[in-house]
Amino acid sequence: MAKQKGRNQTVLFESKLANTALERVEMEKNLRMALNQDQFELYYQPRVSQTGQILSMEALIRWRNHEQKSIPPGIFIPIAEQAGLMLGLGNWVVDAALTQLQSWIEQGLQVVPVSINISAIQLHQKNFSQQLLQRISKFKVPCKLIELEITESLLMEDVQLVSTHLHALQKAGIGISIDDFGTGYSSLAYLANFPSDSLKIDRLFITNLHINVSNQRLVRAIVDLAEHFNLNVVAEGVETQAELSAVIECGVDEIQGYFYSMPLPADQIASNWLQLKDVNNQQA
Ligand code: C2E
Ligand code: MG
Ligand code: MG
Ligand code: MG
Repeated sequence: MAKQKGRNQTVLFESKLANTALERVEMEKNLRMALNQDQFELYYQPRVSQTGQILSMEALIRWRNHEQKSIPPGIFIPIAEQAGLMLGLGNWVVDAALTQLQSWIEQGLQVVPVSINISAIQLHQKNFSQQLLQRISKFKVPCKLIELEITESLLMEDVQLVSTHLHALQKAGIGISIDDFGTGYSSLAYLANFPSDSLKIDRLFITNLHINVSNQRLVRAIVDLAEHFNLNVVAEGVETQAELSAVIECGVDEIQGYFYSMPLPADQIASNWLQLKDVNNQQA
C-alpha cells in the first residue's frame, strides 16, 4: 500500500516536472513573441515620506500575454533571464520608463524620480553603464530622475565590474537602491562593495511588524546599520496603518506598499500622485 502510494507520487512528481518543463518552453516562446508584440506595460508604485508625500516611484513590469492572461514578473523574469531574453527585456523597461518620464515632463507635471529594477544579467554587461547613460541622454531626461534597484542574487559573480558600473552611474547622479534587503546571504557584502543611496527592507520583515518583536529588532538594526553608511531606509510592502506606525516607530525613512497605493498604470499614477508644475513658481 505504502509502496503503491510512493510510486503514484513519483509518477505525479515526474508528470508535474514534465509539465513545468513544457510550460517553461512555452513561456519562453511566448516571451520572445511578447517583446515584438508590445504585450508589456510598466506600472508605477509611489514611495512616500513618513508624512505621505510622494518622493519617487518604482516601475514594475506587467505582462498580459496573447490570451490576455496576466503573468507576474516573479514568474517570467527568472525565465527571461535563463532564456537569454533579459537584455532585450531590460532595454525595453529602460526605454519605456524614459519615454514615460519625458512625456510627463512635456505635460508640465512635477515629476519625481523613477526607480527601475535591474537584473544582475544587465549589470554584468561590459558596457552597461555607458549604454544606460547614452539612452538617458538620448531621451533628454536628467539623471537625477533615475534610480536603479539592485536585487541580491547568486548571479553577482563579477563584483568588480558591477561595482565599477554602479560607481559611474552614481557619479552621473543616478540613485542606487539595494532591493529586498535582508533576504539573501550577501546583504552585507553588497553594502561593503557597492555604492548605494538606499536600502529597501523586504516585505517579509514588514508584514505584521507591529506584533513581531524580533522583526522590530531586525528593522531597527537595519536602520542603525544604514545610518553608518549614510543610507535611506525604505520599508517595502506596508499594507496597514498598524504596519505603517510600526515602521515609523522603528525609524524607517520611506514607505512603499498597498497602504498608500497599489502599482498603477501611468495615467492613474499621474492623476493620483503628480501635480501640475506651478508656472508662476520658478522653483518648481
Ligand atoms: P520588487 O522589486 O521587490 O518589487 C516589489 C513587489 O512587491 C512588487 O511585485 C509589488 O507589486 C509588490 N508590492 C508592493 N507593495 C506591496 C504590498 O503592500 N503588499 C504586497 N503583497 N505586495 C506589494 P511585482 O510587481 O509582482 O514584482 C515582483 C518582482 O519582480 C519585483 O520585486 C522585482 O524583483 C521583479 N521585477 C518587477 N519588474 C521588473 C523589471 O522591470 N525588471 C526586473 N529586472 N525585475 C522586475
Ligand atoms: Mg524593486
Ligand atoms: Mg523589493
Ligand atoms: Mg522582490
